[in-house]
Amino acid sequence: MVMNTKLSDELYEKAKKVMPGGVNSPVRAFKSVKRNPVFIDRAYKDRIIDVDGNEYIDFVCSWGPGILGHAYPDVIEAVKRAAENGLTYGAPTSRETQLIEHIQDAFPYVDKMRLVSSGTEAVMSAVRAARGLTSRDKIIKFDGCYHGHSDSVLFSSGSGLATFSTPDSAGIPKKVSEDTLVATFNDIGSVRKLFESNAQDIAAVIVEPAMANRGVKAPGPGFLDELRELTKEYKSLLIFDEVITGFRLAYGGASEYYGVTPDLVTLGKIVGGGMPLAAYGGRADIMACISPDGAVYQAGTLSGNPLATAAGLETLKQLKKDKDIYKRLEEKADRLEAAFKNLDGINVSRAGSLLSISFGDEDADRYAEFFNYLLERGIYIAPSQYEALFLSDAHTDEDIEKTVSIIQSFR
Ligand code: PLP
Repeated sequence: MVMNTKLSDELYEKAKKVMPGGVNSPVRAFKSVKRNPVFIDRAYKDRIIDVDGNEYIDFVCSWGPGILGHAYPDVIEAVKRAAENGLTYGAPTSRETQLIEHIQDAFPYVDKMRLVSSGTEAVMSAVRAARGLTSRDKIIKFDGCYHGHSDSVLFSSGSGLATFSTPDSAGIPKKVSEDTLVATFNDIGSVRKLFESNAQDIAAVIVEPAMANRGVKAPGPGFLDELRELTKEYKSLLIFDEVITGFRLAYGGASEYYGVTPDLVTLGKIVGGGMPLAAYGGRADIMACISPDGAVYQAGTLSGNPLATAAGLETLKQLKKDKDIYKRLEEKADRLEAAFKNLDGINVSRAGSLLSISFGDEDADRYAEFFNYLLERGIYIAPSQYEALFLSDAHTDEDIEKTVSIIQSFR
């Protein structure tokens, strides 16, 4: 099937001259699917349209934020209204408090919270808070969990790195690696061992409560509860990185979905409603360590930006109004899962409405073939088999049906 990508190809050539790899985030380069990226012109509901006029049903949803679909009218209206009053003040606004109150409604264990601009920043700040509060330097993370690109957590991470077969990044000081210990997800024994040999040194355990960055992996029975117990036993903090799972697995994220309460949580993506906004927070006694109340410094020129809080607040209001959305997302995921499972050699994994597909590490070429087959037929999935598929409430029955029939025609 021939798809016209003339304008995208020209834009990519220009972009490569001014950006590393022609993109502002590595996975966008489409390297692992062996083609040039398509450049997006606009999006609405469950559709994105590229600069050459090709229209796709979008299962990337900007890697998670787009739970209501693109250009959701009430969210756009809220952002427009906010923009008319100025883009940023670097001073407090009432909407920051309102947004956090909405987050607290979904995450009742969060007494206090800070708004930041990216998931990376939220995690970096939560890890510093844990270290500051406990006066300990080491953290435990899990193989395959991605927590953004700050030094402390960029070890044995998720898809971008796995896709490019680099175990970690250049430029991270060797000394940092001494303080980041890596355990195996769903293997509580591997965590216990690290605690036993570093009993007084571990500030926090950070985990994606359902893994979504190197394929989707649900926590095994009792795993999160055991993490909770173990961290308590060693007076270390438990951080749930809910940048993906927050407001997606359920309104109250993974902590509601799996019934386990961490000490600190990081949120991103959906909380910003498509704008650059993320957050970290937890119990009041922990958050008391943050400046200006406490000794842990963390700040941001654009933190709690008025446009971002407008988009986030409107998105959370919609989700609160209609929590059946989570049932609908799971039903759509059921239908896609069943369709994928009919294909030969495919692995499908699932946590709630999050699902991922792969043809195995040895068969990345097959994924590239599959990706291109779908793209040429108007279906846009992640250009890496380690990433999750994201669904939105805007995906219609007809579009899911169409996607299922195209998936099933792949040989
Ligand atoms: N944490 C998790 C679980 C993520 O999936 C991501 C990004 O995908 C991040 C943190 C980093 O967020 P951001 O890309 O906004 O810096």
